[in-house]
Amino acid sequence: MSPVHTVRGPVDSADLGRTYMHEHIFVLTADVQANHPQEWGSEEDRVADAVQKLRALAAQGVTTLVDPTVVGLGRYVPRIQRIAEQVPDLNIVVATGIYTYDSVPFHFHHRGPALAAVLGTELPDPMVDLFVDDITDGIAGTGVRAGMLKCAIDEPGLTPGVERVMRAVARAHHATGTPITVHTHPGTRTAMDVKRVLCDSEGVDPGRIVLAHSGDTTDCDHLTALADAGFVLGMDRFGLNLGDTTFETRADTLVEMCRRGYAERMVLSQDASCYIDWIDPMVMPFLPQWHYLHLGAEVLPYVRERGVTEEQIDTMLVANPRRFFETGRPTPAPPDAIGAPGVR
Ligand SMILES: [Zn+2]
Repeated sequence: MSPVHTVRGPVDSADLGRTYMHEHIFVLTADVQANHPQEWGSEEDRVADAVQKLRALAAQGVTTLVDPTVVGLGRYVPRIQRIAEQVPDLNIVVATGIYTYDSVPFHFHHRGPALAAVLGTELPDPMVDLFVDDITDGIAGTGVRAGMLKCAIDEPGLTPGVERVMRAVARAHHATGTPITVHTHPGTRTAMDVKRVLCDSEGVDPGRIVLAHSGDTTDCDHLTALADAGFVLGMDRFGLNLGDTTFETRADTLVEMCRRGYAERMVLSQDASCYIDWIDPMVMPFLPQWHYLHLGAEVLPYVRERGVTEEQIDTMLVANPRRFFETGRPTPAPPDAIGAPGVR
């Protein structure tokens, strides 16, 4: 048992219950929203809509939601606090980190390791302290402490910016024991870069890393190799069914991985949100299953019919998230990681 930081304060890991490990409440392009709020409309209506959707999720028996919305995804914790106060049956865990597929945000372009060539000396990356402060002191004066670290690597692969954020996340992980979610792109096997940088170089235990969006592939041999390496697989986009990725391909992949004996290495979620400004609202009717209730209402009945047991479902939704949060304690970074490229 160990305390997990949620928006309303610490919750014992044993009390997390049924946990969705990757759902957003809002995904926003912060400076577009600040200047062009027309589509967003009424703040009151958006908050009320989120409260209603999250109450419906809680009524379905989900007791904890991890929202990995960080810088780059429009994180704004005061709004999440307002919502959490009105959904008392649901714990919300927020995250710290940076979401980029390419370069670091301009704020970091001429700070820390970027100055090494100019100053002729290595400076620590200021990202690390920002992440640690979010975890230990709370976010932006709200007192809400982050319970998850987040970074991303997508199709462009391990760019210098992606690597810099990844290594800063590793440093904050070692300082605090907070677990990590990495947005990955299994189609190009970016999890192999996660293994090389976070685990082999920075010494992070793969059991403390969720490889988010693992369920975007049907390549069960690749997923098996990642699970055997010790990672937690995020089967976390149920409902985001586009092109070749259908309800059946996602659900059948889950069934097959359970059949192979990997229920203990998977967590479940939908990567849904109440509002995401990346997508024209006219497109949303073409994604009718992409909402908070889809997994409970449609995916679980389907996989039960195909042999996934109630015990395996509980393992994926309750035991695995609990264990993932529980094993956290600060660990020293391995000495050979300190001089690794692009890091401090
Ligand atoms: Zn996401």
